[in-house]
Amino acid sequence: MHRITVVGGGFAGLTAAITAAEAGAKVTLYEAHHTLGGRARTAEGPYRTNEGPHALYSGGPHWTWLTQRDLIGPLAPVPLLEGSRLRLHLDGALRRVPPLALLKLGRRKPEHTPVDTDFLTWATAHVGEAGARAAANYTAVALFHHDPGSLSAAFVHERLRRAAKLPPEAHYPRGGWANVIDRMAARAWNLGVRMETLARVDTLPTDTPVIVATSLDAARRLIGDPSLTWDSGRTTLIDLAVRTRRGDAFAVSDLDAPGWIERFTAQDRTLAPHGQQLIQGQIPISPAESKADGVARAERLLDLGFPGWRERAVWRRESVAHGRTGAVDRPGTTWRDRPAVDRGDGVYLAGDQVAAPGVLSEVSFNSAITAATLALAAGRGSTPAARPSTSTTPIDLNHA
Ligand SMILES: Cc1cc2nc3c(=O)[nH]c(=O)nc-3n(C[C@H](O)[C@H](O)[C@H](O)COP(=O)(O)OP(=O)(O)OC[C@H]3O[C@@H](n4cnc5c(N)ncnc54)[C@H](O)[C@@H]3O)c2cc1C
Repeated sequence: MHRITVVGGGFAGLTAAITAAEAGAKVTLYEAHHTLGGRARTAEGPYRTNEGPHALYSGGPHWTWLTQRDLIGPLAPVPLLEGSRLRLHLDGALRRVPPLALLKLGRRKPEHTPVDTDFLTWATAHVGEAGARAAANYTAVALFHHDPGSLSAAFVHERLRRAAKLPPEAHYPRGGWANVIDRMAARAWNLGVRMETLARVDTLPTDTPVIVATSLDAARRLIGDPSLTWDSGRTTLIDLAVRTRRGDAFAVSDLDAPGWIERFTAQDRTLAPHGQQLIQGQIPISPAESKADGVARAERLLDLGFPGWRERAVWRRESVAHGRTGAVDRPGTTWRDRPAVDRGDGVYLAGDQVAAPGVLSEVSFNSAITAATLALAAGRGSTPAARPSTSTTPIDLNHA
């Protein structure tokens, strides 16, 4: 039986650990935080918030993999009436019907969408500039960037197609993503994975293949490789609990500028106390904008979709997610150009800014499967033994 070390106990780390353990490896996973889950954690307490609005897309490879292992658990479907309360903010007003341009672009086959051209230029040639801008802003729901139109047309088009699909791909684990993480942790446990929490790794082990399943920023520091960088978004997050009012919007998608606000209790009553609604929003901001700019835009959307929300508000929290919302690809680049999974010497990267296909957490999932497969092959071969072992205690753990 060969041994594999996984650093990081988020979605990627757990996926890698389960994959390696299913193949018979003896896996040890180290997580710096006191709970597993990383960005897929759900807050404890009366308001069960994820870190920003989170949906599990059913068109991705993780969906099949999780389903096969019964790891998704109960879902919270959006009731039809609530679904009909999706509003689109266009030309300063809320509307129910999406612009034709958005539907047209969403239906276009992806094969001929160029990588080298920016989305706005490409889409304008097909539907005109106003429609192209609205479609670009709509994709912010799945790419969290302040200027989606400036990114690679192929990259943005894939997200537009996924986010505009009917029936919708977005699904919601009841009780938040933590329930999926808990099921994954139980599966890992049953497979014999040793999981240590409050165990920050400062030095990579040299006697086993190691999968670094942290954020790319943390991996850069851990591996000591300054080339480990890739673009990501910066977005203001707003979490809000309000007293219930009939007729509130289910979600407001901003088509005048990137932004998304969603009332998660519309589909899952367990997320807030009785009589209250939990609303989460994300407003991407440019490098020149502040959190306050994002909050101000969020409040304008709230005014339109949730009348009287200020008087009804019982709890609220704001933050900025910087580089935490996955990779974005500029014109001329694809996921293949991102930092490679195989770093040499038995070290493998997994995460959502790594060279793997997919949308958001699907990149973490796909890279984790690749990393585990390579680590298993390395464990059977000679690569890790060839790495110099400089310490008798290869992992330096700071137990916080
Ligand atoms: C606002 C927001 C909204 C999102 N919405 C969606 C969505 O709707 N759908 C979707 O699919 N995805 C969404 N995502 C993306 C998704 O959350 C991430 O892609 C996914 O959770 C990343 O998982 P990961 O395991 O790669 O990284 P992480 O979750 O960051 O896990 C890395 C783990 O490594 C640990 N760690 C770091 N350094 C060390 C160390 N030195 N030693 C030990 N442990 C360490 C960290 O504590 C962390 O637990 C969203 C993200 C954000 C921020």
